[in-house]
Amino acid sequence: MTEEPYIVFGSPIIGSEEISSVVKTLETCWIGTGPRVHEFQRAFAEYTGAQHALATASCTAALHLAMVASGVGHGDEVITTPMTFCATANAIVHTGATPVFADCRRDTMNIDPAAVEAAITPRTRAIVPVHFAGRPVDMDAISAIAKKHGLLVIEDAAHAIETVYHGRKAGTLGDIGCFSFYVTKNMTTGEGGMVTTNDAELARKIQIYGLHGLSADAWSRFSDKGYKHYEVVFPGFKYNLTDMAASLGLVQLPKLREWLVRREEIWARYDAAFADLPVTLPAPPEPNTVHARHLYTLLVRDDAPVGRDQFLAEMHKRRIGTGVHYRALHVQPYYRERFGFRPEDFPNAHFIGERTVSIPLTPKLSDRDVERVIVAVREILGGGSSR
Ligand SMILES: *Cc1c(COP(=O)(O)O)cnc(C)c1O
Repeated sequence: MTEEPYIVFGSPIIGSEEISSVVKTLETCWIGTGPRVHEFQRAFAEYTGAQHALATASCTAALHLAMVASGVGHGDEVITTPMTFCATANAIVHTGATPVFADCRRDTMNIDPAAVEAAITPRTRAIVPVHFAGRPVDMDAISAIAKKHGLLVIEDAAHAIETVYHGRKAGTLGDIGCFSFYVTKNMTTGEGGMVTTNDAELARKIQIYGLHGLSADAWSRFSDKGYKHYEVVFPGFKYNLTDMAASLGLVQLPKLREWLVRREEIWARYDAAFADLPVTLPAPPEPNTVHARHLYTLLVRDDAPVGRDQFLAEMHKRRIGTGVHYRALHVQPYYRERFGFRPEDFPNAHFIGERTVSIPLTPKLSDRDVERVIVAVREILGGGSSR
């Protein structure tokens, strides 16, 4: 029997449209930040309903820019969840502010508004909720807390491109939204990100700070309208997206709808196939929301025949890639040592971090791939093959 192909976790769909779009951009010789980025920004603003969308090199850059442009810095505290990718909290550290964790809920894995409220001090400046796995945070509660205490809300919408909460898209629910187009995300530009906001002044700052702090961007500087001097108005960053990357994004954006439908299909098959196993399945989506289905996360229960790490190894043996989203941030060495956290400080994040595993969910999976994943999970967790 020939060996089964490896199912790569989070592998993107890159088809002929993507390839020819990038090639066309290359042929124009305008491969830096130019017309394709502007087009992508307009398309993304339209997609989310935000008034302004500004492309960045990554979501990490987007988060950092969003905070710096909002004036977050030394002496400030920013509240976020320990159940997130390290970039969320790292970006806070890079502004000079102090990250303050508020525990997540066990069921939704999203930040708990009651824990946010309890973490507020006179130094709190902002809240960075993360729409975990594509499930919207309870934004009514977060917005109410922010309003009461005069805080900024910066959404980490890296998992949440398609997420809708009470009729509004993620990224438009707070003051600023930050998106990721990293390879494994719901759409990709290779590396890339986007900031969304309805605040014109913030948008202007984000645009300037994201390209060295120059008063005019490279596109208008090097256009055929003649040379124009630039002014340095801020010690900014090199956080711009390229036209090559934007040309990928422009053809992926219209496919999001169809890809979400496919992931919903795979999700439903997993839910049905694993219902009798010693695992905790993802909670059903809340009413009046769209879950972006970025990650299908299983918690391997303590009564399962294998632990989480052994489960990961067994999946690999069956040539199936998995992910862990995430081991809680407060137990990572930097955060643990710098802030003196103990695992039990955020017990829900720690509990999830020790048991969670993400199995393949990309729309690239064939029905046969999905079946292979199901058979493997059932075999490893003692569910047998009969269903
Ligand atoms: C992927 C991710 C990021 C960082 O995105 P990049 O585009 O890789 O910088 C930030 N936050 C969360 C929750 C993520 O999953």
